[in-house]
Parts: sequence; C-alpha cells; structure tokens
Amino acid sequence: MIRFEQMRKSFGTHAVLRGIDAEVNRGEVVCLIGPSGSGKSTMLRCINGLEPYQGGRVMIGDTLVDASRPTIHDIRTRVSMVFQRFNLFPNRTALENVMEGPIYVLKEKPADVRERASALLRRVGLEEKMQAYPASLSGGQQQRVAIARALAMRPEAILFDEPTSALDPEMVGEVLSVMQGLAEEEDMTMLVVTHEIQFAREVASRVLFLDDGLIAEEGPARELLQHPKNERTQDFLRRVT
Ligand code: ADP
Ligand code: MG
Repeated sequence: MIRFEQMRKSFGTHAVLRGIDAEVNRGEVVCLIGPSGSGKSTMLRCINGLEPYQGGRVMIGDTLVDASRPTIHDIRTRVSMVFQRFNLFPNRTALENVMEGPIYVLKEKPADVRERASALLRRVGLEEKMQAYPASLSGGQQQRVAIARALAMRPEAILFDEPTSALDPEMVGEVLSVMQGLAEEEDMTMLVVTHEIQFAREVASRVLFLDDGLIAEEGPARELLQHPKNERTQDFLRRVT
C-alpha cells in the first residue's frame, strides 16, 4: 500500500533521510520508532506530499508520489494524517470538523456526509459532543475528533504522527484504544509514529526503527521490541521504556 524505495530527503545540505526502504501492506499496522530528530515526521510528510523529496521514490499503491498538483490532491484523498496537535478548526463544532473534508475535498453532499460524520463520532465515543467546539473538549476528545475526521475521508491508510504525545497521561489510553479498534475491527492500514512501546507490542504487526536517516532495524513487533538486535535499537528502547 505504501512503499519507500531508496528514498532520500534533505533540507538544504542536511540529509535527513538517506535511502529509506520500507513498506506498509494493506491492513497492516506498522509502528515507526526512533530518536527525536531522526526524521520520522519527515518520512510521514513525504508520503502525503506535505514535503518534496529528492531521490528514490515513494509509492501509494501504483501511484508515484511527486510534487504535481493532481497527484498531491489524489493522495490526500487516499491517505489521511493525524497529528500530535489535533489541528481542528476552532470555529467549527466537532461534527462540522468531521464533515469538512468530505464536503470540500471530496465534494460530497452535506446531507450524506452528516450521517456518516455522526456515525464516526459515535464510533470514537463522542456522540454527546457533536455540537461542541474544540476549545470545550479535552485533549483526548479533540484527538478522537481528529481521528473521526481522518476516517471521514474513507482513506486507504491513516498516518499518525505521535498522536498521544501532546496529551495528559490520563487521556492517552482512550486515544490508543480507538486506534486499536480501527486496527482490529476494521483492518485499517496504519503507519504510526509513537513512543508508546506497549501499544506497538500489542497492536503493530511490524516495527521500523529509524536512526540517522536509515531504517536501522525492522521486524515483527514483539520480536524487535523484546529482542532488538541492533545496538542503537537497544539503547533507544532502554531510554523510552
Ligand atoms: P522526528 O519527527 O523524528 O523528531 P523530524 O522529521 O521532525 O524528526 O526532523 C528530522 C530532521 O529534519 C531534524 O534535524 C529537523 O531539524 C529537520 N527538519 C525538519 N523539518 C525541517 C524543515 N522544514 N526545515 C529544515 N529542517 C527541518
Ligand atoms: Mg516528529
């Protein structure tokens, strides 16, 4: 579904990604871990065209991700992203936030979208909060709205960039459990940047460890997290667990 082939990305002279080979298959949950500054967010941003890259390629199914406008538009309708900071529209209700993409990007009829958006908000446990504005919601609730909003696009895959890092600890669980539900009940294809190692162990099929611009180690989640082979992976896991 998502494939990197020798992909390289620099900011000016700073080579951030130096030849990434990786893939996420349909229905798979892959966690991307690695030290701060190793390029995890950049990797996600290159998938949905938020950042151009300089070498190799990124493929979404059969589509080559490049900087051309039709491609970028196509990809954004197929791959949704959930950010660390929820990025909801502050002057729109939860329901309106979820309806926005399908109406303005997919050009669907508001009446049809409304029903689907309500169902999605119920799905993430927010049926009581449809008419609430983001400022009146907790961080965990806002992030669940953001997940409903991502799902409203009927994406083929969702990219999560540290979706629980900005949350108070007591709200982490409610967001992770929604994500776990998507993975297990809906076979959603997900690439998740996270430091939640227990989530990775329980939910991910595979883990990629990004270090110094390269995938330094990858493998089945349990195996890699319990018995990392690479010394850098071992160091990293000692520090985050
Ligand atoms: P991570 O998400 O793993 O913490 P990032 O992908 O955010 O890492 O950043 C990787 C590297 O790229 C860092 O050194 C960061 O400073 C640099 N970087 C990220 N975005 C930009 C940008 N827009 N311009 C210049 N450098 C950037
Ligand atoms: Mg990041």
